[in-house]
Amino acid sequence: MTGTGAAPSGAFDADLVVVGCGPTGATLAGLAALRGLRVVVVERDRELFALPRAVQCDHEVLRILQELGCAEEVMADGIVNEGLDFLAADRRVLLSFSVPPLAPTGWPTSVFFHQPTLEATLRRAVVSLGVEVRLGATVSALVQHDAGVDVAVSGAGHLRARWVVGCDGARSATRQVIGTSLRDTGFEEAWLVVDLQLEGAVPGLPSRCLQVCDPSRPHTLVPMPGGRFRFEFMLLAGESADELLDPASIRDLVSGWIDPALARVERAAVYTFHGLVASTWRDRRVFLAGDAAHQTPPFLGQGMCAGMRDAANLAWKLAAVATGGAPDRLLDTYQAERQPHAQAVIDAAVEFGRLICLTDPQAAAERDAGLTAARTGTGALTGGSGAAPNLIPGLARGAAVGTGGGALSRQPTIDGVRLDDLVGPRTALCTAAPLDPASPAAGWWSVHGVALDATTNPGLAPLLEGREACAIRPDRYVLARGGVEEVTAVAASVLQGHGAPVAAGS
Ligand SMILES: Cc1cc2nc3c(=O)[nH]c(=O)nc-3n(C[C@H](O)[C@H](O)[C@H](O)COP(=O)(O)OP(=O)(O)OC[C@H]3O[C@@H](n4cnc5c(N)ncnc54)[C@H](O)[C@@H]3O)c2cc1C
Repeated sequence: MTGTGAAPSGAFDADLVVVGCGPTGATLAGLAALRGLRVVVVERDRELFALPRAVQCDHEVLRILQELGCAEEVMADGIVNEGLDFLAADRRVLLSFSVPPLAPTGWPTSVFFHQPTLEATLRRAVVSLGVEVRLGATVSALVQHDAGVDVAVSGAGHLRARWVVGCDGARSATRQVIGTSLRDTGFEEAWLVVDLQLEGAVPGLPSRCLQVCDPSRPHTLVPMPGGRFRFEFMLLAGESADELLDPASIRDLVSGWIDPALARVERAAVYTFHGLVASTWRDRRVFLAGDAAHQTPPFLGQGMCAGMRDAANLAWKLAAVATGGAPDRLLDTYQAERQPHAQAVIDAAVEFGRLICLTDPQAAAERDAGLTAARTGTGALTGGSGAAPNLIPGLARGAAVGTGGGALSRQPTIDGVRLDDLVGPRTALCTAAPLDPASPAAGWWSVHGVALDATTNPGLAPLLEGREACAIRPDRYVLARGGVEEVTAVAASVLQGHGAPVAAGS
């Protein structure tokens, strides 16, 4: 792929070309189309990748899928995650986290799914929103101009678009066009991932996720829907992938938990888990999202979730610039917001990984003692038992977030309708009292968003946290809380560039 060229002439084929139709690309395409952009997704493979990698998603992802109209279907195919236990080598519980069945977003906190089934559902939803998906087509070159990007598609001519987003996975060629390096957290461990198809009910398998902190072989157990079950085993020093992929070795490893005769290996693969974040996510009209921008060890089940958060963050900003008169610098807030967020989640996953991957018996014994002390409240560690800690941060203030903003908003149900369904793909203002129809704020919101008040809709009151007003961005993050005029000024600044500038990178 290449870089800059002469100015293009001729009309655009699309507002947005998305490279890659994995979960990130499909989500971005759907959310952008929902906001009125013409979107083409170019995907190298003809068929969906038939084997799962991701198995867990969180409530925020379900909320994003809600907007795309397919969350209920994903839920129907999934199973709700009840919790996560850390076990010692002797299977004693070191830590036990319960997962609240319902998050404040109105969706289950965590759900196990089958990735190919989820992706098939997602693709159907996205196509029904008007996205053109070109399968079996590889983006081979990108040439940027002031007004747009020319996208060469192998054997299928080219496309001209206002923007291109590389959602082309860990080996992203778009990343090379942007010319960015990957920052490495220094974590690198190889794990064998084994997905089993169970022959009926198999005794001995948990309904929760287990992290087995056994220094002789750290491993993970994850329930999956559809009669499947996942095991993950860490490779030890000196072991090769081929050794562990040997069918006899796989049988031996899973026999610690089940009778191997009761399950069929659907697939086995060795992955190297690491934590990487691209330094630059945007070069003028070309962006990165998903695994192309960041990769995490899967200990928190957050890689795909992070990609879908990228999509939700970027889609409304592209639409606001394309059709809503927002300044181009709003697009710089994409990396300013998403990069530190992705990095924080990766750092938390790496911390979990370092805890789990200990193979030195002495260090493992000290870890076990520390975790036990945390669980029983006798040690220095806190939050070691009970509800799972929320390791997912909000957004830093200073990008496209004002005072009181940055957290993912709650989603109440109002007269049987979820808030987001009521609001649609718009920015929303929630107020304690109805707006004066003659006020400038009422005028502004009638054009640029939607205003709801807690007098008419009492379910909105918790969103206000005692303030007069709360504005919610189209990606459902709180934009600002405070007085009506103050919050409206922040919204006008972000969406139209009026008043205080939107700062990038702060
Ligand atoms: C073992 C394992 C367990 C995991 N568990 C979880 C989990 O529980 N929860 C979670 O959230 N995440 C998990 N993940 C991470 C998750 O699978 C990934 O983060 C996610 O699939 C990345 O999605 P993506 O759309 O960014 O990239 P991909 O899924 O890699 O999609 C990229 C797409 O781009 C296409 N493409 C590439 N180059 C081109 C080109 N030049 N032209 C056209 N198309 C192109 C590819 O064909 C591909 O379809 C796990 C990962 C692993 C390996």
